[in-house]
Amino acid sequence: MVYKFLEQLFPGQCLVCGQPGVQGRDICATCLEELPRNRPCCPCCAAPLPSWQADGSLCGSCSAKPPPFLRIIAPWRYEAPLDVLIQQLKFHRRLAAGRLLGELLAGEIPSGPKPDLLVPVPQHPRQLRRKGFNHSSEIALFLSRASGIPWSPWRLKKIRETRSQHRLSRKERQDNLRGCFHFDNSGAYRHVAAIDDIVTTGATAREAALALKRAGVEQIEIWAMARTPEKC
Ligand SMILES: [Zn+2]
Ligand SMILES: [Zn+2]
Repeated sequence: MVYKFLEQLFPGQCLVCGQPGVQGRDICATCLEELPRNRPCCPCCAAPLPSWQADGSLCGSCSAKPPPFLRIIAPWRYEAPLDVLIQQLKFHRRLAAGRLLGELLAGEIPSGPKPDLLVPVPQHPRQLRRKGFNHSSEIALFLSRASGIPWSPWRLKKIRETRSQHRLSRKERQDNLRGCFHFDNSGAYRHVAAIDDIVTTGATAREAALALKRAGVEQIEIWAMARTPEKC
C-alpha cells in the first residue's frame, strides 16, 4: 500500500533518457518499447536466428549436440537501449539499473514449472573484492523479489580464477573455464536457474550448467538479459 503510494509520488526516471518512468519503474514508455527483442531465436540456447527463420527453430549447434542445460532464456539482444542499462550496472555500479533489469526479466518468465532456486553466475572471491559487487547478484536479487522465487548468492561458487574471456577462441574459452564453478546442493535442489547479464558464446552458461549437473540438479536453466549473436 505504502509502496504503491510512493510509486505514484515518485514515478521513477528513465535510466536511458531521463524521461519520467512508466509502471513505477526507471524506464520510460519509449525506451521500454525500444528494447531489442531477441526474435527469432533458438528455443534451446537463445542464439539469435536470421530473420527469415521461424522463431523456435533449433539452431545448428543445438541440433548437432544438445547443451547441458534445458534452455537459455534471453529475451533481448545486446543492443541499444538495453546495452546502456547493463553497462550502467556493470561498469558504473548503478544499482537502480540492477533493480530495473531484475524486474524486466521477471516479466519474461515463461509459464510452466518454475525453478526452486535462482543462483547468480558468481565471480571469484578475489575478483569480487577488487570490484566490490557482482552485477549478476544484483539482477538475481531483484528478479527474486519480483518473481517470488528464492535466490542464493553463495551456493554457486567460482572456485578458480580464470583469464578474461575477451580475445580467446571458443575452444580456449571452454578450456579457460573448465571446472571453475562448484554448486553446493545441500538443499537438494532439482530445478535451478543460473542468472547472468549477457550470454555471448555460451561457454560460461555451459560451465555453470555442468557444475549444477554434477551436484545432482536435474533441470537447469540459464536466464540472462541479453544474447549476443555468437552461437553456443
Ligand atoms: Zn527513456
Ligand atoms: Zn541453439
